[in-house]
Amino acid sequence: MERLPPIGSEEREISLPEVLKPYFEKVGLKWKVRFFQAETDTLRIDSNSVTKEHRIWVGEGQEKWQELLVHELCHGKLAETLDPNFSQVNFHPRYDIDDPQFRKKAQLVYLSQAHVDIWVDDLVEKIDPILTKRMISQAVSDFDRFLKRPNILYQFLKEKGEAYFFVTWGMNTAEIKRRNLGELLEENQRILERIFIVLGANYGTLSQVLSRFYEELPKLPSEKEKAIELLQSSTQSVSQILNFPIKPKLIEHTHQRYGKSWVWKFD
Ligand SMILES: [Zn+2]
Repeated sequence: MERLPPIGSEEREISLPEVLKPYFEKVGLKWKVRFFQAETDTLRIDSNSVTKEHRIWVGEGQEKWQELLVHELCHGKLAETLDPNFSQVNFHPRYDIDDPQFRKKAQLVYLSQAHVDIWVDDLVEKIDPILTKRMISQAVSDFDRFLKRPNILYQFLKEKGEAYFFVTWGMNTAEIKRRNLGELLEENQRILERIFIVLGANYGTLSQVLSRFYEELPKLPSEKEKAIELLQSSTQSVSQILNFPIKPKLIEHTHQRYGKSWVWKFD
């Protein structure tokens, strides 16, 4: 899941990570792809439809994360074929991205539209289902580890917030079913039971409501307008389920130099 770019970060270009070589051609991106060393541990992509360039930031040690790097490339594919908002979150230019108030609300938009990752993984699965399977089982064992050690879990909740937990667990649960990974269902069910015990009924119920919503998420339409419509309506639904004080809307904005693009507004 992508987060806001850090303020004032330096860029150092790096070469195509070795583990991506077997998949790079298969994803078949048409725009130029450049890789940069990230200062934080966030793996993220930025796709620019004007310069026709993807920039992928890779944190220390992340150049070995094959499935996650392929996932970033697939974000790029959706940006090329549908809209850059499937690669990163574009906000209306009237917002000041360094303003802490903006960053707080922007984070809620990020969380509400995080399920873009499910559509990205639909593409990753087509390229190689081993990659999605590895990603999802890794997440199941991470949740299992967290819930067995409440200290780590509380630390996680403090750092990332409760909503991040609901969203990531819910999406992973939906992906288990979407990718027919029945062998992970039992362990995942035990995790849900522990969520109820360790975090309480409110957490448990909310996790369930959200995972059901993600399970029913339709496939991404191949028509741009329809895809944008679904992105907006599903993002609004998640924001409502999580009781966020925002109503995210995608509006068409015309930039003097760059032309038309879809951007998020949230108030
Ligand atoms: Zn992603």
